Amino acid sequence: MTKPIPYGRQNITQEDIDAVVEVLRSDWLTQGPKIREFEEAFKQYVGVKYALAVSNGTAALHLCSIVMDVKPGDKIITTPITFAATANCIRYCGGEVVFADIDPDTYLLDIREVRDILMSAPKGTYKGIIVVDFTGRPTDLECFRTLANEFGLWIIEDACHAPGGYFIDSKRNKQKCGNGQFADLAVFSFHPVKHITTGEGGMITTNNEELYFRLCNLRTHGIQQRQELMQFNHGLWYYEMQELGFNYRITDIQSALGRSQLKRADENLIKRKEIAALYHEALNGKDYIIRQSELIPGHSFHLYVAEFKNRNGLIQYLRNNGINSQVHYIPLHLMPYYRKFGWKEGDLKHSEDYYRHCLSLPIYPTLRHEEQNFVIDKINDFYLHSGNQRKTL
Ligand SMILES: *Cc1c(COP(=O)(O)O)cnc(C)c1O
Repeated sequence: MTKPIPYGRQNITQEDIDAVVEVLRSDWLTQGPKIREFEEAFKQYVGVKYALAVSNGTAALHLCSIVMDVKPGDKIITTPITFAATANCIRYCGGEVVFADIDPDTYLLDIREVRDILMSAPKGTYKGIIVVDFTGRPTDLECFRTLANEFGLWIIEDACHAPGGYFIDSKRNKQKCGNGQFADLAVFSFHPVKHITTGEGGMITTNNEELYFRLCNLRTHGIQQRQELMQFNHGLWYYEMQELGFNYRITDIQSALGRSQLKRADENLIKRKEIAALYHEALNGKDYIIRQSELIPGHSFHLYVAEFKNRNGLIQYLRNNGINSQVHYIPLHLMPYYRKFGWKEGDLKHSEDYYRHCLSLPIYPTLRHEEQNFVIDKINDFYLHSGNQRKTL
């Protein structure tokens, strides 16, 4: 074991490289045909009407907050167990982030907590919910939709961990993450640790045509992309900026990589599931395990998380053995930035308990069987040889 084993890494093939090189030799480095090709393929993959590729997942979340009309003072509910971008997009628009606790069994936003928050205030107090398919475990969006409708809220699905994931709805149908059936908008990220990478990149999916066309404009400075909707026309050179937007475009170079990566998405998903199943079996019932990710069919296993006794000791021991496990995530309400709004320790018990013990183990399609066994052996060694299983915290 020479190089350290990371918790996640990209999988780039010769085919991917060829696809990128082809673009470098072409006429279009950005705003060319590859963006549309990538969007079309991604639409097919998640089963949605519209897909818009952007510069990264955070830009995708920002644009979603704008089109959901988040205004200063608007209250939006989300989970603290997620990457900072999920909540930050609300702050970009001046909204107030209201963190609700997680369900300790799924690690996802607990719908019962959300309901309690909604019930405790007059209708209209809260504007929306951002759910996160954390670790790749799909949120039951059908239940969230029912709740959201009751209170007149929109839903953004942060599906950055979950391309290819699905949940089973009450009619026994598979509902793929980001398919727009229940959430108004969904976002994906193509950062190198995610399932599909473009280096930096993101995607917004929706079934809502109106939102889609507005997002198209906002991606490019707020310039109207549809000729027929322009107010004036001065001639051939004319374009029209109708609202304040951004340059959140992805390039053709990145899109070619994404399109090529997407071709292997399903086979890589199978590998992730196999790795998760092996961890599950190896850790199940061990006395040092408090809880572990469940194996459910639609889980897309961006992360394999388990809660360990003496987690901090284990991280150090694994690090010493060339294994870089990670903690996902530090609860956002405990970040100094969010503490400024009054959040503190003790506010969200399940999230904080989870944070004390959670660990993400290496999982990525090219993780070899012997590497995974090495990780499992080292975990067992740690608890066997050092008597650490007795030091419970
Ligand atoms: C990666 C990630 C993001 C942000 O995506 P970037 O492409 O890095 O901007 C947002 N939410 C979650 C849950 C993520 O994992």
